[in-house]
Amino acid sequence: MDHFLYRNGALYAEDVAVAEIAEAVGTPFYCYSTATLERHYRLFDEALEGLDCLICYAVKANSNLAVLKTLGRLGSGADVVSEGEFRRALAAGIPGERVIFSGVGKTRQELEFALNNDVRQINVESEPELELLNEVALSLNAVAPVSMRVNPDVDAKTHEKISTGKAENKFGIAYEDAPRLYRKAAEMQGIRVVGVDMHIGSQLTDLEPYEQAYSLMRDLIERLEADGIPIPRIDLGGGLGVPYTRDNQPPPLPFDYGAMVRRVFAGMHDREFEIEPGRLIAANAGILVAKTVYVKENAGRQFLILDAAMNDLVRPALYDAWHDIDPVNEASANDTKQTYDVVGPICESGDTFAKQRLMPKIEQNDLVFFRSAGAYGAVMASEYNTRPPAPEVIVSKDRFVIARPRLTYDDMLGKDCIPEWFEEDETPQPPTDTA
Ligand SMILES: *Cc1c(COP(=O)(O)O)cnc(C)c1O
Repeated sequence: MDHFLYRNGALYAEDVAVAEIAEAVGTPFYCYSTATLERHYRLFDEALEGLDCLICYAVKANSNLAVLKTLGRLGSGADVVSEGEFRRALAAGIPGERVIFSGVGKTRQELEFALNNDVRQINVESEPELELLNEVALSLNAVAPVSMRVNPDVDAKTHEKISTGKAENKFGIAYEDAPRLYRKAAEMQGIRVVGVDMHIGSQLTDLEPYEQAYSLMRDLIERLEADGIPIPRIDLGGGLGVPYTRDNQPPPLPFDYGAMVRRVFAGMHDREFEIEPGRLIAANAGILVAKTVYVKENAGRQFLILDAAMNDLVRPALYDAWHDIDPVNEASANDTKQTYDVVGPICESGDTFAKQRLMPKIEQNDLVFFRSAGAYGAVMASEYNTRPPAPEVIVSKDRFVIARPRLTYDDMLGKDCIPEWFEEDETPQPPTDTA
């Protein structure tokens, strides 16, 4: 459930009319709901009740400081994949002791930053990373708390671009290789082994791959402990899917996920657990609002040309993702429907949000909104076509605030630099006709 509902035919974000925000901020814009973020966080909290479990929100899903602050206040930790995300977590008041550092390509500088900021845990993804981390820790007179991300080689049955737990993916340490690396880590002076980690993919709509992966994880923990390496922490990763449309079978609920975790790890409930949800917390807590610039007919097809584009929301172009698109002014049930291709203005055919979508009839200048745009939306925005990315607004009850303003053209152009040599060099002359 989210807090984007119609009241008397007008869309509201909590207690604020979305058309009113559009009036104040202009379009396109992202709009996040505090109450929905909080609700989703609490769903996980309740689903894992009874276990000592830290929810480490995956910052990459939506890294706006207002979003991080909202979750951090509830006690959330953070799963970060770069120094930049680590800095965001700290800036939002989430202390290093609640930050997990993940990712396949952490640099020396990033590892130093993590150790200098009391990182809770570094999820190591390869042998060379383990060696570098040991070296960095020793040079700082520190001991790095380490979990290894183990690749269980299970099929997460999700889109190939967001599947991470197959042997051929770049992520994690091969399952068979893990015991050897754990023994190596246990002997390193700069490393303290704290746990095991897995993250098999995103937008998982079935609990079965999780159960398979977690059973393997359990076997590995038993084997490592028989080898004399205690594993006090279990990092369950993230990836639980969200409903992107009303029409499909809804994905498993956090409650059922929690019950499965308790079952698979029966007898291990005395450990510390960690979970890294991103999408499930943020996706349905955000919408993208856009205005219809033109309704155009081409060769019998109707195109809705919006003022939002793939530079604002790239998921449809990147993952063939589906977003429900609805009018901000609710259509009545007996209004005529029309089939549209919903597109942005960018000069790429990939700048298409939906093809042959049956929708209520939309007119020029009408506002529409994309549901479930709170995760992997604004964070993936770019300035392609020198378009200022959509600003971000956050609502709480009857208040709203611009949590990230729209860039001005001066902001955008001012980032480039024209080399001084153009002033020193002679201006090239057009070629003279020698014929
Ligand atoms: C992306 C990611 C997550 C979050 O995945 P969601 O599908 O958004 O829940 C968690 N952990 C790691 C290591 C990730 O890379």
